[in-house]
Amino acid sequence: MSANTFPAQIEPFKWAEQGFTWSGNLPLSRFARIAREAIGPVDHQQVQINCKLSMDAYLRLVWLDVQVETKVPLECQRCLGTVEEPLVSDVHLALVEDESLIERLDEDADFVVLGENESSTKGSFDQPAVVDLLALIEDELLLLLPLSPKHIACEHKHQPTEQDIVEEKRDNPFDVLASLKGKLN
Ligand SMILES: [Zn+2]
Repeated sequence: MSANTFPAQIEPFKWAEQGFTWSGNLPLSRFARIAREAIGPVDHQQVQINCKLSMDAYLRLVWLDVQVETKVPLECQRCLGTVEEPLVSDVHLALVEDESLIERLDEDADFVVLGENESSTKGSFDQPAVVDLLALIEDELLLLLPLSPKHIACEHKHQPTEQDIVEEKRDNPFDVLASLKGKLN
């Protein structure tokens, strides 16, 4: 594994103790759920990531800090042209093994209970907890996708046809967000 290969899975408690950090770019195509919302090929699009894990021995949890930044080509809902939507997030997320530890956190702290979403598994006596870091970062990016992407000012006016309206309803990105939020809460 080269020094800059993004890890597929991390063991948050072990890796936090070792002071895990990662900085680099990943192609947007690795984020399949985001890429699906994009129009056209996303091969040239990059996602900039800076992340680190740190142990909080007092709270018995791991903090995941991620700065992530990308641009996603989306379909403008007004003119149907391409609108480059910037997605920028600064995540400070507590990874906790047990729901009972949440009450020690500040009220407005963001957290993930390991094993309660598809991006992580809970640890057991012979298996450490494991997090799919890419999926977790993608969860955060999905929350930033606009429900109805639009240019601030469209260059080309377009009167939507009956066909466009039907397709817009079918591909409503709101459905994706709504189901994701349901899973996180
Ligand atoms: Zn437009």
